[in-house]
Amino acid sequence: MISPKERIRYSRQIMLPQMGEGAQAKLAKARVMVVGVGGLGCPVALYLATAGVGTLHLVDGDSVELSNLQRQVLYKTNHVHKPKVVMAAQQLQAANPEMRIVPHQRNASEKWLATNMASIDLVLDCTDNQKIRKVINRVCQQNKVPVIMASVQGFSGQLITLDYRLPDSPCYSCIFPNAEQQQGTSCNSSGVIGPALGVIGSAQALEAIKLLAGLALGSLNTLQLFEGETLEWRRLSLGSRRCETCADQKEGVH
Ligand SMILES: [Zn+2]
Repeated sequence: MISPKERIRYSRQIMLPQMGEGAQAKLAKARVMVVGVGGLGCPVALYLATAGVGTLHLVDGDSVELSNLQRQVLYKTNHVHKPKVVMAAQQLQAANPEMRIVPHQRNASEKWLATNMASIDLVLDCTDNQKIRKVINRVCQQNKVPVIMASVQGFSGQLITLDYRLPDSPCYSCIFPNAEQQQGTSCNSSGVIGPALGVIGSAQALEAIKLLAGLALGSLNTLQLFEGETLEWRRLSLGSRRCETCADQKEGVH
């Protein structure tokens, strides 16, 4: 049930016909993991915390660097050299003391993700690394946990949701068959404009709130592409693509 204080704090979203107290109660029960608290993870975590997601796990082994402050909006100049998850947890808890933040000061590994996935309802992949993205997807698929992935380079960003709770969900390899060749590209080595991360991170948080509230998504099995130079969105529906592994599994059913 929602307390009188929560009813006031979340009143502007509770009054929406799509949300209501039922959706708010679902958010309060939700356990969400944000992997990577950088340019995307900062706005994602902030909007999920202020929206009243019950438990937010933050996973990042990095410390704040001076060059992060141009885009990683949770961090202040006096946070430089301090652990990101600790600083982020402080900021988020100040924004909303009613919810639980669990900082994990470490990089996500397959083993660690697998042992922690049993108590997670939704993963937000806010990393900038193809290798760990594949690992996150594999663990989410094995544990039937939905994942919302996003990335931004330069002025352009992309976003997609895969809901592994659904028996026919495509996997990461179905959607990105050439991901092997893209390894190594990351925000560390290429430039990125801060507000494009804000746009994509906000879209990622919006999809997360809708998924947890049980609303329809615009990014389910659909790659949403944002071009910051022209402010244009494009969408590619990829749900019917099947990688070899998934095609074999599907044939096996018949
Ligand atoms: Zn597949």
